[in-house]
Amino acid sequence: MLGLMQSQNLLISSILKHGARHHASAPVVSRTHEGTMHRYGWADVERRARRLVRAMEKLGIGQSDRAGTLAWNAYRHLEVYYAASGMGAICHTINPRLHPDDIAYIINHASDRVLFVDLSFAPLIDVLADRIKDCVRDVVMLCDAASMPEVKPAPGMRVHCYDTIMEASDEDYIWPDFDENTASALCYTSGTTGRPKGVLYSHRSTFLHAYAASMPDVLCARASERILPVVPMFHVNAWGIPYACALTGAGLILPGRHLDGASLTTLLNDENVTLTCGVPTIWMGLLQHLRTSGEKLTSVKRIMTGGSATPPLLVEAFRDEQGVNVEQGWGMTELSPVGTYNAPKEAQLGLEGAAFVKHALKQGRILAGIDMKIVDGNGKELPWDGEAFGDLKVKGPWIASAYFGDEPGSALDEDGWFATGDVSTIDPDGFMEITDRSKDVIKSGGEWISSIALENIAVSHPDVLEAAVIASRHPKWDERPLLLVTPKPGRSIDAASVLKVYEGQVAKWWLPDAVLVVDELPHTATGKLQKTTLRAAYKDYYMT
Ligand code: AMP
Repeated sequence: MLGLMQSQNLLISSILKHGARHHASAPVVSRTHEGTMHRYGWADVERRARRLVRAMEKLGIGQSDRAGTLAWNAYRHLEVYYAASGMGAICHTINPRLHPDDIAYIINHASDRVLFVDLSFAPLIDVLADRIKDCVRDVVMLCDAASMPEVKPAPGMRVHCYDTIMEASDEDYIWPDFDENTASALCYTSGTTGRPKGVLYSHRSTFLHAYAASMPDVLCARASERILPVVPMFHVNAWGIPYACALTGAGLILPGRHLDGASLTTLLNDENVTLTCGVPTIWMGLLQHLRTSGEKLTSVKRIMTGGSATPPLLVEAFRDEQGVNVEQGWGMTELSPVGTYNAPKEAQLGLEGAAFVKHALKQGRILAGIDMKIVDGNGKELPWDGEAFGDLKVKGPWIASAYFGDEPGSALDEDGWFATGDVSTIDPDGFMEITDRSKDVIKSGGEWISSIALENIAVSHPDVLEAAVIASRHPKWDERPLLLVTPKPGRSIDAASVLKVYEGQVAKWWLPDAVLVVDELPHTATGKLQKTTLRAAYKDYYMT
């Protein structure tokens, strides 16, 4: 027997309609390309998104067409998010920091019909035009008529000004109803191994993720909060924050292109931001600025960090020097992206000092609605004792089942679980802690050594800015850890003293066999350490 409840498709347009009707004037604030502030509310976003749909229809965009974006976090990009998905087309956010070859590959693979491009990325279009002319018909520059740059399109490609096509359009549009499983957005993984792969979100997956991410033990996105996503809207939908804010009425502050410590401090304080979200590199930059300038964060209560491991210094320094809680989330492009969040249960409320920091370094508890498990090399589930570590698998309605262009279900194992490629422990309270990427874990004499655990200890050395530990082939042990470190500005590193900080912290056989001091470490376009490059350079270090 079926229940007798109303049935309604979970659509992104209904998130926007809710925001417009119930949080009409909740602040949506953007710092523009010119550095001025643009302010409006969700009623305006909804109205302008309708206008944009009408403009896109004139460009010939229809259901399932891909609308690519190369843009920072700002209001026009937000309008594209809602307009493209709401009309049944697909908003394809592209990471402009990728190599142009990868960007061209992604645009062609996605078959983008139109590209919405920020002024900063106009030169990219000149570089790409010839390589994307088979699919891209229109390029829309996200600016007003006075700021239109010189863009060299390929023959047959049209270039438009966003504000001009908006002015020529109208708002006579009713958001359509369709199957909630319809594709809504597309985002390619950052491609640390091989070609980037597309993750194709649906309206249903986005809606459910926005609900779960807004919950008290995650973003806690109350209407009285003001949230600033530093995480780019081209990196997994800015962790779902543009949707969560419309759903809850939390203020949305969009920082534009300047993400350095000084610019962020001004924006966070001027706009009374209470929660800000981004990767650790951003927070290290912010911390450095606060320390040198002596400025204080006046309204921020929480910093959500994720995307890569949290350095202990971040937790300690923001708590002690700024009174700000650094909270960690974990996720992946394939998870929409948030999978876990580290918010305390009752048992963790009394933690202080080193115990508090140790716990804060865990990636957290699974969001309600999805599930996780850890398994050994034979696929056997491992205990949640905080000790056993194995491959982390996840399952649930906002997790990819296949990559764009592949057969549905092809990214899952026979029981429907998705292998994250992360290696982790889970403690008895359900807090997951990443010990490695499966390809980064060091297999020494048949035992596993966590490269992340060794990196976290290395950065507690006063002269070390950043650390990377990789597996280097070894004639006796198969693989042994090799540590590479970069010095803080104006400091030099004594390699022997770095090894000293490991004393009493790890088993002796975990100790890196060598410490190399280098000027800088390679990073991916999303700011993660690029260990593939390091492995290629140093994989035979112990063999020679
Ligand atoms: P991406 O799809 O680019 O967001 O990358 C996802 C990967 O980033 C995950 O599989 C993890 O390896 C890593 N990651 C994300 N969040 C965290 C975190 N809080 N701590 C450590 N690694 C993380």
